[in-house]
Amino acid sequence: MTLAASTRYLRDYVAIPSVNPMGRSDLSADIAGEARYAGQLREQLRGLGLDAELVGDPARPSVVAEVRAAKGSPSLLVASHLDTVPVDDMEIDPFDPRIDGDRLYGRGACDTKAGMAALVAALERVLAAGRLRRNVVVVGEADEEYASVGVRDVMQHLGSKGRPDWVLATEPTDLRPVTRHKGIAVARLVAHGEACHSSNPGEGSNAIVTLSRAVLAMDELNRDLAGHADPRLGPGTLSVNVAGGGQALNIVPNEAWLLLDRRLLPGEDGETLRKELEASLAAHGLTRVDIAACSVAKGPLGTPDDHPLLRSCQDALARCGLSTEPATAAFATDAGVLESEESLPGIVMGPGSIAQAHTAREFVDLRQVEKMTEFFVQLLERPA
Ligand SMILES: [Zn+2]
Repeated sequence: MTLAASTRYLRDYVAIPSVNPMGRSDLSADIAGEARYAGQLREQLRGLGLDAELVGDPARPSVVAEVRAAKGSPSLLVASHLDTVPVDDMEIDPFDPRIDGDRLYGRGACDTKAGMAALVAALERVLAAGRLRRNVVVVGEADEEYASVGVRDVMQHLGSKGRPDWVLATEPTDLRPVTRHKGIAVARLVAHGEACHSSNPGEGSNAIVTLSRAVLAMDELNRDLAGHADPRLGPGTLSVNVAGGGQALNIVPNEAWLLLDRRLLPGEDGETLRKELEASLAAHGLTRVDIAACSVAKGPLGTPDDHPLLRSCQDALARCGLSTEPATAAFATDAGVLESEESLPGIVMGPGSIAQAHTAREFVDLRQVEKMTEFFVQLLERPA
């Protein structure tokens, strides 16, 4: 049986470990980091005649390749992250891709090496036929699964050469065009008190008690958010997920802290969260609680239904016999990072289901990978 080019490339990519260490130091050097996969892609893209290069930290590089077909027309950045999540509890060999019927198993098969395999197979086909009609920036970015360092390296690199206009990020969406998802912001609150001997706690001021009041204030804030739902995404949320404080059993604590996770709706940002926190702490008289940190990890995505990028994608989807209905995703992506930090409108779309991503037996449906290849061919062969 001859395998489709997209299947062959996917098999090659899965066999190259590109595990994101995600802050850990115990991963073997044989599997950690994106450098091997980035190097392989650079050579493959150069083989297609593209001017591909590596950017960012040489130990954690991203790959960028530009190809111009139509002067003056919008440029589409297609981003397919290079990293995968770790492989600790996998029940299959993560780097020995196995094909079983319509499925290919292995780490990254679904999230999101299948998206890159489809893109490269489509580019190869379109370039060989001399039918490319769009300006494309092919991006394989590092570190999507953790801190999105790679996509920021890529934008810094492109800053000197001209910005793209639109973004398509491949993530497993079952080939549905996702135009909206929430973003992720995080904050650290620190409560201050006065330490004293715990035999006479009235002498001091207990920071854990103060922090507890802040936790209840945060819970109230989350209930308030429920009243402002996005029609498709539902409400933004706030959840206190980690807390700590205190030094010893016989000392009234002078400091305690919490970390909270705030899911942002399109239009919300780090400033939205900071103002909410300030107002809530003030309303509860919590003058001894500071906002020690407040930042957006991945911004939200909110591309309008009448955006020309969506229309282009819908046209290509229709030509492939696929649903054109705009969809939402429960997860955050680098498209949200690019919209919130670079004002680049984006779509998230790719083969495979998020239900298989990050699992112990990760796989992708190869029929979807080939459909995605056809979608890219349709998209790239038509001018914007
Ligand atoms: Zn992913």
